[in-house]
Amino acid sequence: MAWSAHTIIQNGKPIPFEEARVHPLSVGLAYGAAVFEGIRAYMNPATGRLSVFRLEEHLARLDQGMKFMRFDDPPSRDVLRQGVLESVRANAPDDDCYIRLQVHIESRGSQSTTGKVGWVCAAIPRDRSPKRESGLSLGVSSWTRIADNTMPARIKATANYHAGRIATLQAQADGYDAPILLTREGKLSESAGACLCLVRDGVLITPARDSDILESVTRGTVMELAAELGVPCEERRADRTELYVADEVFLCGTGQELVPVTRVDRLPVGDGKPGAITMQLQAAYEAVVRGTTDAHAAWRTPVP
Ligand code: PMP
Repeated sequence: MAWSAHTIIQNGKPIPFEEARVHPLSVGLAYGAAVFEGIRAYMNPATGRLSVFRLEEHLARLDQGMKFMRFDDPPSRDVLRQGVLESVRANAPDDDCYIRLQVHIESRGSQSTTGKVGWVCAAIPRDRSPKRESGLSLGVSSWTRIADNTMPARIKATANYHAGRIATLQAQADGYDAPILLTREGKLSESAGACLCLVRDGVLITPARDSDILESVTRGTVMELAAELGVPCEERRADRTELYVADEVFLCGTGQELVPVTRVDRLPVGDGKPGAITMQLQAAYEAVVRGTTDAHAAWRTPVP
């Protein structure tokens, strides 16, 4: 990726990237009062045009987060949509980009302060997973996934990533690429920044929405694409041991996209190679995000 970001949108205004500021004692930073979205825009190889993938779904999830956080006078969906499109347009990237849209409490105060709300949107280059063809090695973490009645994973709050971060650092210290987290009941939840999918006997299995997962946009996309490919899908609670007997395992998320998992706890997944259904879904995802198929045009918002 040759391009670099020079402009960022802060509270609706384009400013030089390095000049974005919040006070270190802002409630967003001091108490983690911030929610965000990670979004990708993809270039169509034939037209050279960028489209933002599933922008409306990301904006809807962010609205849910802002409501849950009881933010005062949060920015409207129209304002944030404009901010996303402007963050990309202003940087004129010549390749795909990753977009971080974040809404936070900008003022100083206590942990219960609900305003003043500020927001920022940055479009930056982001490499794809270097393991998207070869596959990841994951380890089941001894850290437990954050729970809905303590720190709800359904809300994409920046503070959630404290838990993801410690699990990731431990997984890396133990020689894995990333962790798999279990719920307090010991059921499969997700990884630290992506959802988990398994394939057993030709059936796609993904932990249910009540397994302390982020209700991932990519997971929803994968389930729709699987149905279109004739792969049945079960959204249900799943056991840890299903990882060891699965034919295929993969992670999915906006940042990770679709990445095969070829080892779990140092045991090979299936025959230890990326699975056929995984790679079929990866190809279908690539076509739909980039718009090399006409299908699901409504999922792609062209950058003006
Ligand atoms: N789970 C977690 C914890 C994440 O951070 C992400 C990335 N946002 C995902 C799942 C995937 O979500 P999405 O497909 O909406 O990007």
